[in-house]
Amino acid sequence: MLIVQKYGGTSVGNIERIRNVARRCLATQRQGHDVVVIVSAMSGETNRLLGLAKQLSDIPDERELDVIASTGEQVSVGLLALAIHAEGGKALSLLGHQVRVITDSAFARARIQEIDARAITEALKEGKIAVVAGFQGVDREGNITTLGRGGSDTSGVAVAAALKADVCEIYTDVDGVYTADPNVVPTARKVGRISYEEMLELASLGAKVLQIRSVEFGMKFGVPIHVRSSFNDNEGTWVVPEEKTMESVVVSGVTATKDEAKITMHGISDQAGIQAQVLRPLAAAGIVVDVIVQAYVEDGRTNFTFTLPAVDLARAKDLLVKQCSNLCAADQIKAESGLSKVSVVGVGMRSHAGVALKMFDILAKENIAVQLIATSEIKISCVIDAKYAELAVRALHDGFGLDKA
Ligand code: ADP
Ligand code: ASP
Ligand code: MG
Repeated sequence: MLIVQKYGGTSVGNIERIRNVARRCLATQRQGHDVVVIVSAMSGETNRLLGLAKQLSDIPDERELDVIASTGEQVSVGLLALAIHAEGGKALSLLGHQVRVITDSAFARARIQEIDARAITEALKEGKIAVVAGFQGVDREGNITTLGRGGSDTSGVAVAAALKADVCEIYTDVDGVYTADPNVVPTARKVGRISYEEMLELASLGAKVLQIRSVEFGMKFGVPIHVRSSFNDNEGTWVVPEEKTMESVVVSGVTATKDEAKITMHGISDQAGIQAQVLRPLAAAGIVVDVIVQAYVEDGRTNFTFTLPAVDLARAKDLLVKQCSNLCAADQIKAESGLSKVSVVGVGMRSHAGVALKMFDILAKENIAVQLIATSEIKISCVIDAKYAELAVRALHDGFGLDKA
C-alpha cells in the first residue's frame, strides 16, 4: 500500500517525539508499504514565529509573514529525516516548493491548486521515506505561501489524493474524532466512523482536529482519512462516505467556535438591495460574514444583523460607518464581540423531528440566552455569550446523550 501519514505539532514537539515518529514511519515501511510523511512545525513554533513578526508590525505584510511562518515546517522535516537516518532508514526531506505544491497567491490562506508529486515518487522508488513539509506551498510566481492555521492536515490529504494513496493517517494528540473536544468535555467519546459531511460541519464549526479543507479534499477525491493518536496504536476514527446506519444517530457531535462578533444595523429602511449594499464593502475587504438575520421592526424599518470573526470587527464597523451612511447613522451601527457559536451536528437530523426544540430546552435550562440561530440540513448553531460556551457544549453533549454509548 501507499500510506500517507501526517503528524501534528505535539507529535513532533521535541526530539524524543520526533524519534518516536521516525520509528513509526519505519515500522510501517517494514510492513512493506511505501510511506510519505507530512509534518507540522513543532508545537508552539508557528505561534512563536508569527509573534516575532508582530513585534515589528501590527499588520505585517502577508507575503513576508508566510516566508517566516513556513520555516517551522522546514525545521521539522529536516529533523525527522535525520531521525529516520539515525534509526537506520532512508529518508528525503522535501519543502512545498520542492515537491511543487502549487497554490494560489492568497498569502496566509492559500488554496492548493495542483501537486506535482514526481519528487515524492522518485524518493519512494529509491526506497526512501518522503518527508514533506506541511502547511506550505508555492504560487505560480515562486512566492512561498501557507495554507492557513491547521493547514498541514490539508497538505496531508492533498498529497494523499495526488498520489492516489490508500489512506491518509492523521496522527495527533487525541485518539480520534470525539463527540466533543475531549479537552473540554471529559465524557466525550471517540467516534469509530464519521461521514465527510458531518466532519466538514464539525471542522467548520470549531472542531480543530481536522482543518476543513482537508475534509473537502478527502471528500472530493475519495481519500479515506484515519484520525488517530501518535502516542499509541489504538484504532482511531475513519472519515468516510455516509453510511445507512449513521442516520440512526441524531446528533453525532457538539462543537463551539470562539472569537465571534456581531454587527447590527438598527432601523434601516427595508428596501430591495440593502443587504448587498451592506455586505459589498465587507466582501471587497475580504471579511467573511457568517450568520445573517434580518428582522422587521415597524414602519418599513428593519434590523440587519450578521456575525463575523472578532479580529475583523473594528475594520468592518469602520467600513460600514463610511460606506453606508445613507442607510444607517453611525450610532445605530452596534458592534459586539465576545460571542461564541455552539453547534450540534448529525446526519440523523434530516429524518428526526424536535432537534432544535431539544437544543433550546437544554440551553434554557442552563439559563443561556440565544442571540442568533442558523441551521442547515445536518446542523443547528446558536450564537451565545462566549462566557457560556463550554457550559453549553457540556450541557448539549450530555443532554443529547452523547456521553452514553
Ligand atoms: P495537531 O497539532 O496534531 O494538528 P490540533 O491541536 O490541531 O492537533 O488538533 C487536535 C485537537 O483538536 C485536540 O487536542 C482537541 O483538543 C481538539 N478537538 C476539538 N474538537 C475535537 C473533537 N471533536 N474530537 C477530537 N479532538 C477535538
Ligand atoms: N504549523 C501550522 C499551524 O500551527 C500548520 C499545522 O500545524 O497544521 O497552524
Ligand atoms: Mg492541527
